[in-house]
Amino acid sequence: MKSLQDDLDQRRQQGLYHRRGVNQGPSSVHTRIDGRNVLSFCSNDYLGLANHAALRQAAIDAIERFGVGSGSAHLVSGHSALHHECEQALAEFTGRERALLFSTGYMANLAVGSALTGRGDAIFQDKLNHASLIDAAQLSHALFKRYPHQNLDRLDQQLSAHAADHAEHNRLIMTDGVFSMDGDKADLSELADLARRHAATLMVDDAHGFGVLGQQGGGLCDEQGLGQDAVPVLMATLGKAVGVSGAFVAGSEVLIESLIQRARSYIYTTASPPALAAAVTRALQVIRDEPWRRDKLQDLIAHLRLRAQAMGIHLMDSTTAIQPIIIGDNHTAVRLSRALFEKGFHVPAIRPPTVPPGTARLRVTLSAEHQTEDIDQLLRAIADSR
Ligand SMILES: *Cc1c(COP(=O)(O)O)cnc(C)c1O
Repeated sequence: MKSLQDDLDQRRQQGLYHRRGVNQGPSSVHTRIDGRNVLSFCSNDYLGLANHAALRQAAIDAIERFGVGSGSAHLVSGHSALHHECEQALAEFTGRERALLFSTGYMANLAVGSALTGRGDAIFQDKLNHASLIDAAQLSHALFKRYPHQNLDRLDQQLSAHAADHAEHNRLIMTDGVFSMDGDKADLSELADLARRHAATLMVDDAHGFGVLGQQGGGLCDEQGLGQDAVPVLMATLGKAVGVSGAFVAGSEVLIESLIQRARSYIYTTASPPALAAAVTRALQVIRDEPWRRDKLQDLIAHLRLRAQAMGIHLMDSTTAIQPIIIGDNHTAVRLSRALFEKGFHVPAIRPPTVPPGTARLRVTLSAEHQTEDIDQLLRAIADSR
């Protein structure tokens, strides 16, 4: 075990060591972490639903009727009426034929990669995609091609090259909708065109767009007006803006039936608690009925960008709730994050390998629960700490 200790020591020296703060209450912008009250700018609970009264009540009612655990996998006896109802609500919400629930987004992505591709097929990914998509490609046994961030000319070339050698094989493009560490959006119309021209399948992971973007909160596809034809495989997580836990894949009848038959991360795992599905179903109604949450979030984003610019704080080119501040050096980013914590602000330092070397950053995320004064306070603290 000496090598493990060496590795831990090395991580410390490189500013790459991670430690977990203990949160003493529900997800909220006002939290108590490690015994200190802080204003949080790091959660993905963008709409403030994780502790919403209606969702809590839906989960409590469901526990009264269905208990706590599902008891087994979906294909055995774990697929409850509450899961089933939630899948129907998700299909309707996304305008897809069907939807399938997964316990986590990580598992949903593994499922798509390995159920839709195999040896000889190819998976194409943006270099800044989420780690779970990268792992999905590695587990699939397909050829794995990565293109520089948002460089669709390179993707075009990679697709042509694969089609020339393996015309009869599958090509799967997997992309983040909103890039999780930069906050910018993929050009889904352009990706859908490329997919069509090269007889490839487009899969979008909308973890950070679902619930937040689009008139009804349908996500980035909704915002860009793309249905099941343009984006045949839509995946989104339910632990971020939806405020609960888990994920889903939505698409055609054939896609969903294939995942049920083939996806090992669906088949060989216990179904999530039915109460979570009930809370998700309720969350979809709240997302539809309370558009003020999306509007307020947009106002807060605009406020942050305007004020940061006026104060000379450089933000990345993002219009979403993810508003990172690039620091560069790992140690400096960690020092800044600590200094902010001492002042009562929780903003994590994101370091390699989550982001490319030399681009360590403070990942600021906003929530509809924030007030403009919270943002002003944060910016002042950042300016004072530098
Ligand atoms: C969070 C996230 C996931 C993983 O989802 P979990 O439900 O947390 O496992 C997948 N993809 C992206 C882009 C994410 O941000």
